[in-house]
Amino acid sequence: MSLPNSRSAVDHPAGQPTAGATGIDAEPGLPLDRPRLRGSYWITTFGCQMNKADSERMGGILEAMGYTPGSDEHSADLVIYNTCTIRDNAEQKVYSYLGRQALRKRADPNLTLVVAGCVAQQEGEALLRRVPELDLVMGPQHANRLASLLERVEGGQQVVATEEHIILEDIATARRDSAVCAWVNVIYGCNERCTYCVVPAVRGREQSRLPQAIRLEMEGLAARGYREITLLGQNIDAYGRDLPGITPEGRRAHTFTDLLASVHDVDGIARIRFATSHPRYFTERLIDACADLSKLCEHFHIPFQSGDDDVLRAMARGYTVDRNRRIIDSIRQRKPDAAISADVIVAFPGESDAQFRRTLDLIEAIGFDQVNTAAYSPRPNTPAADWSNQVPEAVKVERLQEVNAVVERVALHRSGRYQGRVEEVLAEGVNPKDPTQLMGRTRNNRLTFFPAARPEGPVHRPGELVRVRIDTVRAFSLSGSLA
Ligand code: SF4
Repeated sequence: MSLPNSRSAVDHPAGQPTAGATGIDAEPGLPLDRPRLRGSYWITTFGCQMNKADSERMGGILEAMGYTPGSDEHSADLVIYNTCTIRDNAEQKVYSYLGRQALRKRADPNLTLVVAGCVAQQEGEALLRRVPELDLVMGPQHANRLASLLERVEGGQQVVATEEHIILEDIATARRDSAVCAWVNVIYGCNERCTYCVVPAVRGREQSRLPQAIRLEMEGLAARGYREITLLGQNIDAYGRDLPGITPEGRRAHTFTDLLASVHDVDGIARIRFATSHPRYFTERLIDACADLSKLCEHFHIPFQSGDDDVLRAMARGYTVDRNRRIIDSIRQRKPDAAISADVIVAFPGESDAQFRRTLDLIEAIGFDQVNTAAYSPRPNTPAADWSNQVPEAVKVERLQEVNAVVERVALHRSGRYQGRVEEVLAEGVNPKDPTQLMGRTRNNRLTFFPAARPEGPVHRPGELVRVRIDTVRAFSLSGSLA
């Protein structure tokens, strides 16, 4: 299924960025009929799973155009930096990489230099002024249009594509890093307004894919041997609220729970995961669905961000600590062994020491299996960046260290429950540190290492579900023997 392509790119004759000129799509994208050899490409990806999924799609588009994977970024003919702006240090790293590539481009004008992703969206034409050697600046909504944008670059234009855009349905085969596990986008963008977050500004409004298109993509992946699918959305619980239709009972025709039910029986797919949930929209219906659908793995990633209600209010998260706890209690009533992971931000503007301690207490009390931690980083064009009550850098560093230590201690304690148990592990690949071992994940999402074979026994391969007896537990990984 193909959605109409909006006419949104801004094209500039080489070297002459022109604000406001509106480009017209010569054709609705891809694939090209006759790929021709175009040289090698390299993509460096920063940030979250959404960016990684975008990079895999862009890799697939480039290969359909006739590019081949390069061996490193310093010799490739086309280089894409798929960027993240969630924290300042990730953004600064991009500028330093770009500086080196700009030097290369001055010596080799045939190099094609692209910045994609969230920094591209945020900076737009300003990036061309900062790095005039760039050929293409494209926001995340334009990832599926890479081919038509590059054709304009080949025609001698500098192109900026950052306008609000109806995302094309996936029509290129992504070049996926794994042959076993795949990401499938179900909703793009986010309509929330968390006061620290740039995502709504850079990824735009919510756009749900149709359930039929999602199922079709999953069937295609299953046919190519994929065993595990992670359904992706910035706020996945919002899935379907922009799609039309009301049920006879008067509720929305498309919800994330309905989507899970409609894709659960795709043959060949053994496991389904999803991310990221939002405590404000997480429903009992979803918990019931997860308990009833056997392919749904027992792992829930629910970012709570802070253990203090006043900080949550300042973040505009739209829930309380108590609500978050009730969700986790409900999950554990239905699925007692479920792993719960989360994201947390420490040193948010105005966060007192007592409020920070409430976050530490919550991590201990819930017993999270994993928490992604970050110290607050002010981002341009977000409300919290302008507040005067910023927490000093030294305090940020201290709090981050302290929360990391608590997270690790709690995770190690949670890992202890696996000791001696037999777990089903989906083998994803060979342990890079020991070629006699495979590595994969338990249903609860713990990374697990195990021997590929017993002496004289058959050799297990990536893609197989293997029963592993857990012998060694660490905070974030396990090791075991074949059961
Ligand atoms: S829910 Fe909040 S934190 Fe998550 S992407 Fe949307 S605005 Fe950002």
